[in-house]
Amino acid sequence: MTHIRFRPVLPTVQDFVSAEQPDLPVHCLRPAVLTRSAEHFVEAFPGSVLYAVKCNPDPAVLDALWAGGVRHFDCASVQEVRLVRRLLPESAIHFMHPVKSRAAIREAWEWHGVRDFVIDSAAELAKVLQETRGAFGELGLVVRLALPKGGAVYDLSGKFGAEPGEAVRLLRMARAVAHRVGLCFHVGSQCLDPAAWERALTRAGRVLDESGVDIDILDVGGGFPVSYPDVEPPPLAAFMAAIVRGVAALDLPAACELWCEPGRALVAAGQSVVVRVEGRRAGHLFVNDGIYGSLSDAGAPGFRFPCRLIRTGGDPVADETTAFSLFGPTCDSADRMEGPFLLPADAREGDWIEIGQLGAYGTSLRTAFNGFDEALRAEVRDPPLLETPGYAALERAA
Ligand SMILES: *Cc1c(COP(=O)(O)O)cnc(C)c1O
Repeated sequence: MTHIRFRPVLPTVQDFVSAEQPDLPVHCLRPAVLTRSAEHFVEAFPGSVLYAVKCNPDPAVLDALWAGGVRHFDCASVQEVRLVRRLLPESAIHFMHPVKSRAAIREAWEWHGVRDFVIDSAAELAKVLQETRGAFGELGLVVRLALPKGGAVYDLSGKFGAEPGEAVRLLRMARAVAHRVGLCFHVGSQCLDPAAWERALTRAGRVLDESGVDIDILDVGGGFPVSYPDVEPPPLAAFMAAIVRGVAALDLPAACELWCEPGRALVAAGQSVVVRVEGRRAGHLFVNDGIYGSLSDAGAPGFRFPCRLIRTGGDPVADETTAFSLFGPTCDSADRMEGPFLLPADAREGDWIEIGQLGAYGTSLRTAFNGFDEALRAEVRDPPLLETPGYAALERAA
């Protein structure tokens, strides 16, 4: 396994841009930030941390998280299972998608050592049993409990999860056929309210009481928030305290394991994207990446991202700032990001803009629409563009 943190000195973003004058967007990976974010989270969470691979499946990201102590991976497709198994042969992989293809279940079980599968219906339970050929001595079944629409920025309540009555029935059915039984939920992504976990745990407790089933795993999902401009989430410790309180109020078997499935919180700060300004019209900058590339969350979902201007060649940059909006490169007029992006007032064609916090659901959501799918990739040593839990502590120690 590569120990990324001890590689020879990486360039800074400014060094890289000055040397390469890149014509394409540059995905700038910060391995030390990823590793430190992982360490911080793993230290804080009183149980097993499963990284939600969909958030950013870049092999270097997986390596950096492994270096930070992440040993469990939440996969939602057989492609993710294959990737993690190939890169991290010692890892524990859990198949956390409630509606899987039969072929995916079979391959995960037979070839990749996956033993835990999420279900939210009796049909999926039957499917998993058939495709794993009833290997009851090893099978883990985790029931996904539906939550009411909550306060998360990204609501995930509409699609998956069994309502409480159905979850009770599934827990009992699973207990009869599986070696390990669990209950999981997801409060929604970028959830700023620690009490959301306490409420979900209360709901989980009612389901457990009614079922009379002793569970082996309680999985509190992902959704842990990160900073964006004007968004300062409560400290991670507040979320952990809420989870610990919520769990303590339940009557769980002593051997029950606690799991979580963070994505965004582990990787957002660990990657930025450098875009080039190809044109300017008043307060609008036309750049070479957009909503069909790494910036989909800056489009309709309206996330704001931190940014800074990079100008090479020694020309001074204006001191005043202007609130810009960005246009992406495709021909779709929806390819527009309102921001506002606060940048020097004289931003102009030929400048670059580094946009931060794109390690989560940024580079992983790119499409090839309109041909704009080429990009460069660099590993850099810069600190993140926004305050990142655990990272300042690392810098102080260094
Ligand atoms: C997407 C997802 C996660 C990760 O969510 P974050 O908000 O990025 O922490 C975890 N679990 C499941 C089941 C998911 O679908």
